[in-house]
Amino acid sequence: MMPFDSYETVVGLECHVQLMTNTKLFSPAKNNYGDAPNENVDVVDLGLPGVLPVMNQQVVDFAVRLGLALNCEIHPVSEFSRKHYFYPDLPKGYQISQFDKPICTGGHLDIEVDGETKRIGITRIHIEEDAGKNIHIEGGNTSLCDYNRAGTPLLEVVSEPDFRSGEEAMVYYRTLRQICMYLGICDGNLQEGSMRADANVSVRKHGVEAFGQRTETKNINSPKYLMQAVHYESRRQVIELEDGRSIQQETRLWDPNLKETRSMRSKEDAQDYRYFPDPDLLPLIVSSEKVSAVQANLPELPAAKKARLMQLGITEDNAGVLCEEATTASYFEAALSGHNNAKGISNWVVNDVLRFMKSASNTSDGESIDLASCPIPAPHIGELVRLIDEKVITGKIAKDVFAEMEKEPSQSPQAIVDTKGWKVERDTGKLEQVISQILGQHPDEVEKYRGGKTKVFGFFVGQVMRETKGQADPSDVNSLLKQKLEV
Ligand code: ADP
Ligand code: MG
Repeated sequence: MMPFDSYETVVGLECHVQLMTNTKLFSPAKNNYGDAPNENVDVVDLGLPGVLPVMNQQVVDFAVRLGLALNCEIHPVSEFSRKHYFYPDLPKGYQISQFDKPICTGGHLDIEVDGETKRIGITRIHIEEDAGKNIHIEGGNTSLCDYNRAGTPLLEVVSEPDFRSGEEAMVYYRTLRQICMYLGICDGNLQEGSMRADANVSVRKHGVEAFGQRTETKNINSPKYLMQAVHYESRRQVIELEDGRSIQQETRLWDPNLKETRSMRSKEDAQDYRYFPDPDLLPLIVSSEKVSAVQANLPELPAAKKARLMQLGITEDNAGVLCEEATTASYFEAALSGHNNAKGISNWVVNDVLRFMKSASNTSDGESIDLASCPIPAPHIGELVRLIDEKVITGKIAKDVFAEMEKEPSQSPQAIVDTKGWKVERDTGKLEQVISQILGQHPDEVEKYRGGKTKVFGFFVGQVMRETKGQADPSDVNSLLKQKLEV
């Protein structure tokens, strides 16, 4: 038996966030995923001699946004350095990055794990350009290069080694993604690699203060894989140590099929990259006016939004679901602006609209649902809840109305109620007739009720609802039934 329990896992994350800018970091080429190979390539991206990089100001804006959202210090002066390595996806032979003078340092992000808040330190955020892509032709011995991604802007967010489990790392990664999407700086598309995490993992015996030797597992894009990779890697390290071997500082890869990490190469040190300040670029200056302007336009972030929704009477579970994706929250707020019943609307969005979108878009488990493209207009959900609240329809009829909205999303609930004639029956005289008739048909149950078996009340409600096709107002039904039964 391996004494896994006597070791503690220590994790620090480096997360790459691909920015949704129009153009690349230092060139006017389009920053667009999915175009034909080498469509969006400029001479600057290819590093042709004599061309000079020009800083994209939108990137500065995005970096400041994220820096403020993660409570960092924003440095008025930062610097670009060249990081050298040789690989076909990097035509210049170096990547422009920030090294010893990054734009943001010293922040934190609070995450919720098992109902508890944990504060994770953010060491730094720096700006860097991405490399191109090598495409290895299957079966052959040919590799192709696509430079569309070369020079696209990234923010690298480096955390302190503050995580103590794969789950904490996963929650942080999800939270960071959520914040980036709220800030409108990254599309959060994990399939397309819009975010990637490198997991630095080490283990140490409980009670030991010094950190153990770490390995770095690179390029994980799914939160779940991140958790699994950390879990696997920490167990692997314990086994190594317990078997009397030592941990090599190395770069590893996560294999999602085999569910294991594999050694890729021994890790480079900073000196292997021969960093030096890029002489083609001036220091990056961020004025305090710029920082205040960005701060003033910062959107409400997920944690604050969730707290505010709960203040409106929404359950914690519903508030969590609504705030998970920025698009879900916007949809909810658009519905709410038409009718002020946060709790009622939250239930419809969480239970019905999301379910509808999930089946309509064939989303697999864990994939996010984008309500921005929901064919049912958000104001129609507000209207539906208003019709219930104003007792025009019952909750039961509302479900039928929603089923019609699913079939023909452009129809408004009011129009559906009108064409179908589904209004609540307000004529209590008619309802009284129906009730008398039903009581007359079931003398035995009436006897039971009057003899104290009040459970049969539900039976009568069901009969009346069936007879009125659900169009009677439930509170009318209840009070009239009681009146008639309790004579
Ligand atoms: P690089 O990987 O480029 O050498 P750093 O040395 O700054 O960069 O470390 C990168 C990441 O590794 C940080 O997120 C940091 O928290 C984490 N880290 C550093 N030491 C350890 C350790 N012993 N165990 C786990 N994570 C660590
Ligand atoms: Mg690293």
